Amino acid sequence: MHNKTVVIIGGGIGGLFAGAFLAKEGFCVTIIEKNTTIGGGLQSFVRFGETFDTGMHVIGGMQPGGNIYKICKYLNILDRINLSEVDDDCTDEVYIACDKTTYKIAKGKDGFINSLAAYFPHQRNELAQYVDAMIALTQELDLFYLRKPSNSIFSHSDDFYLSADKFIAKYISDPQLRAVLSFQNLLYAGEGDVTPAFIHAIISVLYMKCPMRFVGGTSQFADALAHVIKSNGGTVIAGDAAVQVHCENKSIVKCVTASGKELVGDYFISAIHPSAFVQLLQDKSAFPKAYRNRIDNINNSYSALILNIKLKSQSVEYFNYTGHYFNNADDVWKSPTDAAIWPNICLYMTPPAENQSKYASTMNIIAPMSWEEVLPWEDTTTHRRGDDYIGWKKEKAAAVIKAMEDVFPNLADCIENIDISTPLTIRDYYGVKHGALYGYKKDCNNLVQSRVPVRTKISNLFMTGQNHNIHGFCGVALTAIETCENIIGSNQILDNINND
Ligand SMILES: Cc1cc2nc3c(=O)[nH]c(=O)nc-3n(C[C@H](O)[C@H](O)[C@H](O)COP(=O)(O)OP(=O)(O)OC[C@H]3O[C@@H](n4cnc5c(N)ncnc54)[C@H](O)[C@@H]3O)c2cc1C
Repeated sequence: MHNKTVVIIGGGIGGLFAGAFLAKEGFCVTIIEKNTTIGGGLQSFVRFGETFDTGMHVIGGMQPGGNIYKICKYLNILDRINLSEVDDDCTDEVYIACDKTTYKIAKGKDGFINSLAAYFPHQRNELAQYVDAMIALTQELDLFYLRKPSNSIFSHSDDFYLSADKFIAKYISDPQLRAVLSFQNLLYAGEGDVTPAFIHAIISVLYMKCPMRFVGGTSQFADALAHVIKSNGGTVIAGDAAVQVHCENKSIVKCVTASGKELVGDYFISAIHPSAFVQLLQDKSAFPKAYRNRIDNINNSYSALILNIKLKSQSVEYFNYTGHYFNNADDVWKSPTDAAIWPNICLYMTPPAENQSKYASTMNIIAPMSWEEVLPWEDTTTHRRGDDYIGWKKEKAAAVIKAMEDVFPNLADCIENIDISTPLTIRDYYGVKHGALYGYKKDCNNLVQSRVPVRTKISNLFMTGQNHNIHGFCGVALTAIETCENIIGSNQILDNINND
């Protein structure tokens, strides 16, 4: 037992994974979460009698031997998670509206290549080289394979520094296939000439192997991680925000909560957006001004409009894959600020229910949206945004549904009820600046600028979560290992995971 205490601010995936690792390694952990339910992007909620997930929809690395599978085995939570695999012959469907073509992509490396080569036979060799190049890129990231960081000074390949769109174009000559291969770009808020190729490679390789979906809501994973913390003597407090963090002599001494609790610890971990954390610091000089400015000025990823739809009974057949809508092959890398082409991208799915029947009861549609869209209401709070906001939301949702009627004819008639989230919902719900889908934007033109280390200049303060390294379930879980090993020592958690 380390007999040390750690206070973690934020009960999303980052905070919960860090808490679970440290609790298992003998630390006394306290997590403070502002929302009444833990989980952040892992949370489920009930609307119109149906369960919807707030963020997470697909998860990779959970096949036996996968990185997240091994982590869950080490945490002993595998039997608490109910996942289902997507179809072998179609993990993802890509629909390009302008020429009304549909592409179905199969599971695994061979399935991926063969299924796409069936549409683009002249590109088979290029496809094989492209997939190998993606796998090689992921090999440059030791943590992705739960390997100890290499001791040599590691220099990355030229591909590593390319943007995702340029990386695809380097290997694939057919413009239509290039567009199809961009299908997952909403899963990392991809922007042309900006998003690094290695982010594209990690997400693509992760989901190529074995994408899975949560059956019965994502909150089961948050609950499983909380169980690890509590069963090792820790505490998870929900419904009480951290409102102040006090620092003395370059060391955090306490975190004060909205209800007046004073949480003290040997170590503190910020698992919230770094800009939000800096606001909590009472002693502004605790961080150099240049650091504070940098934290505040890193661009954030784009946000989204999210439609959580309750479908009329037996109106839409359940499909066991993720759908990706593009209005035009030329617009796949355009940012959502271009009103003339919006919605140029949508992600659609019917989440699996327990005892799933032939028909879906719910559908999620996510369309990228820029923060600028909601500027007229940026000073408002939930349920008090005014009738003009409600009208605007309905108008935007109608535009998305109209676009999606290309894939699901008469979709509007199939909808019994609809809940609409906007960038304001995401900002206020997660506490993320500008409602960014995945926190900080990672920019291949300035990788150093968009990378905030997990170790800080305050001796007992560490950071974790999607703003550091890579977002998403896998990225955040792996970063939590890095954060915790900065506290307990290099490779300790990795060794325990790999020796389990
Ligand atoms: C719509 C959407 C769809 C997504 N789909 C996927 C997907 O399919 N697969 C995938 O892998 N990833 C997906 N992601 C990304 C993934 O959800 C995030 O990368 C991940 O949840 C980030 O985890 P986090 O712990 O860093 O942050 P968060 O989940 O945002 O957690 C931060 C937590 O801190 C809390 N908090 C904030 N301020 C305070 C405070 N002052 N005091 C106490 N608590 C505070 C928040 O309430 C929140 O619970 C999606 C995200 C979104 C928004």
